[in-house]
This record gives sequence, C-alpha cells and structure tokens, in this order.
Amino acid sequence: MPHRNPMQTDLLPPPADGRVRVMLTLPFAGPLDYLVPPALATARPGDIVTVPLGRRTETGVIWDATSSLPPEFMPPPQKEVPASRLKPVAARLDLPPLPAQLRQFVDWVAAYTLSPPGMVLAMALRANALAAPPRPASGWVAASPLPTGLRLTPPRQKVLDAVSASPLSTGDLARQARVSTAVIRGLAQAGALNAVEITPPPPFATPDPAHCPPQLGGEQAQVAAELRARVTEDAFSITLLEGVTGSGKTEIYMEAIAACLDAGRQALVLLPEIALSAQWTGRFGRRFGAEPALWHSELGSRLRRLTWRAVADGTARVVVGARSALFLPFDQLGLIIVDEEHETAFKQEDGVTYHARDMAVVRARMSRAPVILVSATPSLESLANVGAGRYRHLRLTARHGNATMPEVQTLDMRADPPERGLFLSPVLTGAINDAIGRGEQAMLFLNRRGYAPLTLCRTCGHRMQCPNCTAWLVEHRARHILTCHHCGYDEPIPQTCPKCADTDSLTPIGPGVERITEEARATFPDARILVMASDTLNGPAATAAAVERISRREVDLVIGTQIVAKGWHFAHLTLVGIVDADLGLGGGDLRASERTVQLLHQVAGRAGRAEAPGRVLLQSYVPDHPVMQALVSGDFASFMQQEAEQRRPGFWPPYGRLAALIVSADTPDAADMTARALGQNAPQLDGVQVLGPAPAPLAILRGRHRHRLLLRARRNIAVQPIVREWLSRVRPERGARIDVDIDPVSFL
Ligand code: ADP
Ligand code: ZN
Repeated sequence: MPHRNPMQTDLLPPPADGRVRVMLTLPFAGPLDYLVPPALATARPGDIVTVPLGRRTETGVIWDATSSLPPEFMPPPQKEVPASRLKPVAARLDLPPLPAQLRQFVDWVAAYTLSPPGMVLAMALRANALAAPPRPASGWVAASPLPTGLRLTPPRQKVLDAVSASPLSTGDLARQARVSTAVIRGLAQAGALNAVEITPPPPFATPDPAHCPPQLGGEQAQVAAELRARVTEDAFSITLLEGVTGSGKTEIYMEAIAACLDAGRQALVLLPEIALSAQWTGRFGRRFGAEPALWHSELGSRLRRLTWRAVADGTARVVVGARSALFLPFDQLGLIIVDEEHETAFKQEDGVTYHARDMAVVRARMSRAPVILVSATPSLESLANVGAGRYRHLRLTARHGNATMPEVQTLDMRADPPERGLFLSPVLTGAINDAIGRGEQAMLFLNRRGYAPLTLCRTCGHRMQCPNCTAWLVEHRARHILTCHHCGYDEPIPQTCPKCADTDSLTPIGPGVERITEEARATFPDARILVMASDTLNGPAATAAAVERISRREVDLVIGTQIVAKGWHFAHLTLVGIVDADLGLGGGDLRASERTVQLLHQVAGRAGRAEAPGRVLLQSYVPDHPVMQALVSGDFASFMQQEAEQRRPGFWPPYGRLAALIVSADTPDAADMTARALGQNAPQLDGVQVLGPAPAPLAILRGRHRHRLLLRARRNIAVQPIVREWLSRVRPERGARIDVDIDPVSFL
C-alpha cells in the first residue's frame, strides 16, 4: 500500500447547496462558482472538469471551499453570484485528481507572487499533460490453430516463430524476423495472424536503493547518515548541504533519495538547467539500476502525458527536472533536493515570477517532507537562514579520494597583457600549451555568446543598436548576423555603416566566445577544440554528446559559456582559464559580487577533479578586488561575511524584502505617467521605502518603454498586502501595464 500523506484532505464533500468553486487556467482573481449536476454528485475538490464560460468550454479544477492561506495573504473576498445565474459543471475528465497539497501550493504561490491563481494552476495542468493517455499499440499473435492449407514459406515461418513468445507490432516483427511488412500483411490476410492490443511496459521502472550503493568516506558517511535521518523522521525540515566541488555532494544526496525510496515515497530533484540532466540521469541509473522520470519544457507530448500520470499515481518514484517540476501532482512526496541552490536560473522571469528554490521550501512544508539545498557556494539568503537557526547546515570540506582543490591564481592583465587585438595573455596560452602537451585537457570560459558584444563604426563612431531594445547588437559571425540577445531581432552584418555609409569601417569590439575560439584556433593549431555555448548546443542530447566527447578524451581544449560551469565531471581536465573574470562585476546589481564568486568558483571547480591537480587562471584588470581575492584564497565564508555586512545596514536582501514594480507601455508617455502615478501613490509606512520611479536599465525592451520602482521593507513586514493595496490605487494608462516581481533577482 503506497504511503498516503496525512495532509491529504481530498475527501471533503462538495458544499450542500450544490455549488462548487472551479479554478480555471485563466487570469481571474480566484475560482468561479458553478453548480454540480446530479450526475456529478460525487465530484470532489481536485477533480478535473470542463465548464462552460461564455460560449466556450474551459478546463478547470474543483477547488476547495475554504482557503488555507494565512490571513495576510488572503485575496480580497469576491461577491457571491446568486445560484439562479450559475451554470452547471459540464463533465468530469478521466484523470487523477489534483492532490490537496498541490491545490494548496497553487494558492500559496499565487498569493506570494501576486499572480492570478489560474495562471499558477496552468503550470500544474500543462495542457498537453491532460490530453488522453497515449493509446496502446496494436500487435500480432499467431492464430491458433493456423488456417488449414496455409502455405508456409521460410519467411512466413520466421514470422510465426517470432510471435510465438509475445505479440509484436508490425515494425518490430518485420525487424526481428528480417522480412518485409508485405509478408506480415499476407499472413494476416490469410488469417494466420490476429491483431491484439499490446500493453505498453510501465514507463518508469522502480529504482532500487540497494542496486549499487557507494563506499562513503568518513565525513561523507556522517553527512549521509544525517540526511537519511531527515528523510526517515517524516517531517518538514530544511538542510543546506555545502561542500566544495567534487566532495561528493551528489553522491551523498543520492543516499537521501535511497532513504526516501525505502520509505515508499517520491523524491523530486530540481536542477537549474536541463542541459545537466543527461549526465545526472546516467549517474542515477548506475546508482539505482533504473532511470528517473524527467520533467522539463522540451519533453515530447507523449512522455509529458505519461510522466504527469505516473507522478500522480506514484509509479514515477524519482523525478528530476527544471523548476516547473514543482507543480507536478505528487501524492507521496517525501523529499525535495535543490541542486546548485544559489543559481539564479531557479528564478522564473516571465509569466508567474517565482523562485523555485524558495517555493521548493514551501512545497516541502506542505508535504511535511525534508528539503535539501545543495551548493559549493550557497546563496547569502540560505547562509542567513542558517545563521538565524532556520536551516540546518552540513558541510563536506574535502574532495573525494585523492583529488585536491585546484590552485587559483589571478593573472594581472595590466602586467601581462595579450598582444594587440587578442584577448588571451601569453601566461594563459603558455599554461594551455603545457597542459595539452602533458596529454591533459584545458578549458576557456567566457560568459558571452557570439563573436563580439559591440560593433562600432571607426569612421563616425556609430554603434549598432537593436531597433526594439536599449541594447547593442551582438555579432554572431558564424551565422553572418547581428542579433539582439533580449528580443531576438537580427539582421545581416552590413557592409557599410548605416550612419555614415563608409565601407569596411565597422569593427567588432570586445570578445565573445566565437572570437576566443578563432584566437584559440590560431594560437593552438594542433589542438582539438570543442565549443560549448547554449546557442550552439541544441538541447540536452547535443550537450550529452559534447560531454561524452570530452570524457572520451577526443578534445584537448573546451571553450564555453556558462553551460560549461555546471556540475560536469571531467576527469582529465586540469587547467581552467577565465577569459574575463571582471565581466559580471559591472552594473548596479546588488548581488553582482556574490554571483561572480559563485559562477567563477563553479567553473574553477571543473579543474583537477581526479588524480592530476588542477590549476585556474583568472584574467583580470582588478586582481585586488575582493571577488578575486576570495576566489584565490577559497575563503568564501569571509567573503560572504563581508557581503552580509554590506547588505545588513540598508535592509537589503536577505536582511530585508524587495518587490519590484515594472511599468511597461507602448508609448513613452503612458509608461512615464503610470510610473509617476505609482510614485505619487507610494505607500508611506514605517520600515517601508520606495525607490524610483526611474527608467529601467533596459529602458526599451521589445519596443515597450519601461520604468521601475523598488519597494524595500524590513524582513518582518509582508510586502504582498502593501503592494496589493498600492496597485489598487493606481490605474495604468492606456497601453501600459504593471508587472510585479516579488524578491527580484534581475534589475534590468
Ligand atoms: P560534487 O557534487 O560535490 O561536485 P560529486 O558527487 O560529483 O561531487 O563527486 C565527485 C566525483 O567523486 C564523482 O565522480 C563521484 O562519483 C566521485 N565520488 C564522490 N564520492 C564518492 C564515493 N564515496 N565513492 C566513489 N566515488 C565517489
Ligand atoms: Zn532587441
């Protein structure tokens, strides 16, 4: 009997007056009321139904009669519609109901992010997940007895032999018997083969916790035991697992998954980037003898439907996915792991803006399950929660086996500059030559796609800019275009300057990863070079193939954007060169330093993960910057301490709360007036401050004019009711809209 969560409250009867609340996947303020026709008298909260809305039919979920939200989160009450004006529910769909925990979670996320709950529900009901289940395939069995007088040629005999064990589809049968499909058709027409339905094999085999457990070292064993204890105590808890790169964090949290499987519950693992999933699932398969279920936006529709159902009925025991996997209908969730918890990719920036790490904590609380946040460089948010006693803290201090931490050095670009027009210092190219010469692998990292971030006319100074955005066009030389990384606009690289019409005057300024590759090909003509950038690798399969080539040592030098920073394990990679360590420090982002340390440490962590020691060279014009010093010393605790001291006095996160209001409009005036109205109506409260309005750094995006306001509050103040009240007093101008971003990560 699968474990049932005690929070389950599905069995509430519908209200006595025959009225139910149905949440539609539309941007309404809340559920709508419908009547329950006698035929659906057994309908329950969570049931997925269709209802009439105007002249259309919409899909929705029967919602709970009462909200479980804390009072400060409660949306304002809606007026009750008289029963005489209500329409009946049309039909109940043949789908597993949405579990109570998930309905509660949808309500919570909507209230926290100030989004319409129907838009959050839409993430839980990804439309094609709901379509009919995939149909069983049809196959062939031999008729018994065979028709008399059947002419048995050798190919026909092979077909009959092949189906003697189990039914096979036409394609499989033709392949196994090595005959053409005409032979199969002939046998069917002769009455020697009968069609049957083939029941598909269960899509998700059960992982076996005892399949191939690791031998854990002393510190590892202790931490694993702690994590197992969290899982078996069957209660909500939050643990931050901090461990240097290569210390075995993944190995160890797999032990927590094993404990969760032993307890008969489901585990969810969130990865910041789905490109990582291929290596992850391979590793999981070796440990547990079965693949986990995958969930991400690129999943095909058949697999999406199967997975959604398998999560709902509990046959998918372990799901690994991107942030949207949080909204799957788990019924027996017993563990959530957030790997690389510091990653900003966990923040969804469009539609419902939510932070998957923070919402994972909420989901775990509702499921009375432990959550484990994993990182080599935890976010200041999580460290502050450790400091305040809200999170437990477990640490792994050494790399597994004989591997040591790489030696990190800054390379002062003022002292050892590259040759004119180049970007790699001779010190770095020398080190790469040495590593390749020893038969080891090297990696160059630059967090910038394309050839050059700016194209400038040498004659008149004109800069090539996006017509829709406040942004320069980035040259992508291989594709012969200039493109905008914000809106996707592109145009062919012009021959003449569009301003002064001079020919051959347009010059690329600064490097992107393509330009570094060009330089590397000239500098290391014999090296086998592989480029890994998010726009050159198409999806998880291509990424997996690239990783495979590196592992097989078919590559000497890897050149990549942030995709190479991720948790890859390359045993023979010993040298990492950071082309521009200063890149992330510009701009006014409050987390710029923290993020640079996290990203660069993660890239650095690719070096020397096995026997041979690793070395990391940071090309920088500011080698004395605290960020560079932290990377060299590896003393992140002190660095984060300094970060904390800078943010604490002004009540910046995590010592205060932020909500961003982004005004956008199709005309500058509408944007300006709406932003000013917001400014004039700004809340005047103790412990709350409003900054702005001011033009956004991306003052125009996709042709829309943008202004930003930032509300900052003390940590003990809930910002949602304040923002809701504020918005209720301001009407956006025609063509303008106001987007709310609670706990903003991007300030563009
Ligand atoms: P992290 O997630 O901290 O970067 P990993 O879990 O990826 O570390 O471990 C780094 C490497 O060391 C991996 O190849 C992993 O398989 C190996 N490893 C770690 N711990 C053990 C162990 N106890 N036994 C065998 N291999 C281990
Ligand atoms: Zn643009």
